[in-house]
Amino acid sequence: MIKCPKCNHTLVATTMVCQFCGTDVSQVPRPVEQKVDKNAYKMLSKSTLRGFYFVCGIQVALGIFEFLLGMGMFGSPGEMMKTVYEVYGLILALVGTLLMFRIAAIYQVSSAFCAVEVVLGVVFIISAPLTIEIPGLKWGIIVMGAIQMISAGFLFYFAEETAVGSMSA
Ligand SMILES: [Zn+2]
Repeated sequence: MIKCPKCNHTLVATTMVCQFCGTDVSQVPRPVEQKVDKNAYKMLSKSTLRGFYFVCGIQVALGIFEFLLGMGMFGSPGEMMKTVYEVYGLILALVGTLLMFRIAAIYQVSSAFCAVEVVLGVVFIISAPLTIEIPGLKWGIIVMGAIQMISAGFLFYFAEETAVGSMSA
């Protein structure tokens, strides 16, 4: 609410002309919408934050695992997939880390990133039986792809939950 400087009537904050005396009130300062940044952060329930950090941790662990996979640490994942695992593993670990520190810019791309994770999870699961000979590695990647897709779903949820306030425009 604002007050008309001439007749002192209380007016709705969106008012441009006082309906009581006709004074132009467009220049009257409006109450600034409450910044919720740090308050919203504190208001998040402990379980939500715990879940959020847990999912971020899984993302970082997956990223590191996929990078090592690309490097051939667990046997060759096939020439075609090698680079995908290396590059994507690094990105995954980086995004997980930045989210953990609640960097606002990463929140803005996190939902798109979750979609990429699901798509690549499918690619990993489908390609593993075709490109990998080592049975242990093949199953490892299938499980990894599944974990990636599930954690992407949780990340999508938690990013929405925890971004309230930290992203306020
Ligand atoms: Zn007035």
